[in-house]
Amino acid sequence: MNAIRPDAIRAHMRFLSDSLLQGRGTGTTSYEIAARYVATQLEAAGLHPAGVNGTWYQTVPLRKSVVDDGKSSLVLITKSGEQTLVSLKDYVLYGDLNRTDSSVEAPVVFVGFGVTAPEHNYDDYASADVKGKIVAVLGNAPAKFPSTVRAYYSDYAVKAKNAVAHGAVGFIDLLTPEDQKRNPWDWNMPQVQMGNMEWLQKDGGPHNGFPGLRCWVELNQSGAEKLFAGAGKTLDQVFDTARASQPQSLALPVTARIHTISSHTSADSPNIIGEVPGSDPVLRNQYVVYTAHVDHLGICPPKNGDNVCHGALDNASGVASLLEIARAFASLPKVPRRSILFVFVTGEEMGLLGSDYFAHFPTVPRSAIAADINIDGAPGLYYDMKDLIVLGIEHSSLEQQVQSAAKQIGYSLTPDPMPEENFFIRSDQYSFVQQGVPAVEVGDGIKSVDPKIDGLKVQKEWMVTKYHTPLDNMDQVLDYASGARAAGVNFLVGYDIAQQDAAPTWNNGDFFGEKFGSRHAGDGSAAK
Ligand SMILES: [Zn+2]
Repeated sequence: MNAIRPDAIRAHMRFLSDSLLQGRGTGTTSYEIAARYVATQLEAAGLHPAGVNGTWYQTVPLRKSVVDDGKSSLVLITKSGEQTLVSLKDYVLYGDLNRTDSSVEAPVVFVGFGVTAPEHNYDDYASADVKGKIVAVLGNAPAKFPSTVRAYYSDYAVKAKNAVAHGAVGFIDLLTPEDQKRNPWDWNMPQVQMGNMEWLQKDGGPHNGFPGLRCWVELNQSGAEKLFAGAGKTLDQVFDTARASQPQSLALPVTARIHTISSHTSADSPNIIGEVPGSDPVLRNQYVVYTAHVDHLGICPPKNGDNVCHGALDNASGVASLLEIARAFASLPKVPRRSILFVFVTGEEMGLLGSDYFAHFPTVPRSAIAADINIDGAPGLYYDMKDLIVLGIEHSSLEQQVQSAAKQIGYSLTPDPMPEENFFIRSDQYSFVQQGVPAVEVGDGIKSVDPKIDGLKVQKEWMVTKYHTPLDNMDQVLDYASGARAAGVNFLVGYDIAQQDAAPTWNNGDFFGEKFGSRHAGDGSAAK
């Protein structure tokens, strides 16, 4: 395990988060430079290229939509007249990926969390008629659901699909006070303004494009109050109902006229893929996949005069850690039985796009993918820790490999202390889960070796002060020796999976296993 070098983790991070890399925005030249760097390191470490046509790369075709706020508008029409809301203050529009000019005028129906979960006897749409109407939907999902189920239903793709299935023609997104606290408007709105992206299907249409929805709006608190003016209930009342995990809907006495003008650009952006072929004549045709996203946000709202979102921890650290893990595998005197595939992905910050594309169009047979181990934020860098939090551990037999690797290096395991963040569906492992592949992400623990450090506090503070800002840079004081030690766990988990006779399986009756486990989306245009 001495193959994993703290100094190399720091050096990779320093290069990838340098200002010259301009924040590695998906589809930019600076991302391409980062991609070349990753391929170069893999080549130097002795891996085999495992992208398309013998290259290191798999190109992901993308479309980006950026709203022209000056030309777009949102008007609320009630019995007492028309009210034009103020863009970027009351609301922000998401770009339409299907049309550059999109209009809709329709009554608005509030449908709680917008969740239909028959297995939990819960349906916000039960008594709502939303056909031809715009739905207003709260973020997140009922807290009474088990955290896995809550995470699944909080996915906006699931909410959009459900809205379309009920006949809705537009989507308005509202945040509860709790969600606003975790995602303040001034932090979130500029990220929405930077545009949204999808990967393009073979038919040229955007994946998860939902053409039936002719607007996607996020309302600030002030916009939400205007939307609910004159409704039979106050916002506080509906938030209370949401807190109580009760389904709800309410036809609002308002029609919204929303005009979205957006510009579309196309971009190709590569995943970078390297392989360490396995040693077993049969099992070498199966693959343990590691993933880490190379992209970050690019240029973003300035902090202290710096407008580069460097993404040092998010996720130069994961790339750095995985480059070292790849080097460690390639330099083993005897490689493991299964093959190991290192997939460095693009477009994570734009919605898990590179990993989702790879999971739909893998460069090896999908049925041959044994598991995915994702690294988003290399564990261990904040402080030397006694424990780990492993997302996804409760879903599959991968728990055995994680338990044994953690024990071997000397970590205990702590359950996820922030289930309301729904982290398991928020990084690239979820792209694999959705294609039936068991996956885990090993993350930072909260028990520091130094009793003076409150680990949970450090992480929560980082989330509100540095996460997705220019302050996630190399000025942060990080513990690279601890990061190298924690990388050993990810190494061992993959090694152990690769050595087992049997491939990992979903636990009996597991929610994700049942939902996706038998699902193979095929190699066509892969509609979800
Ligand atoms: Zn991120």
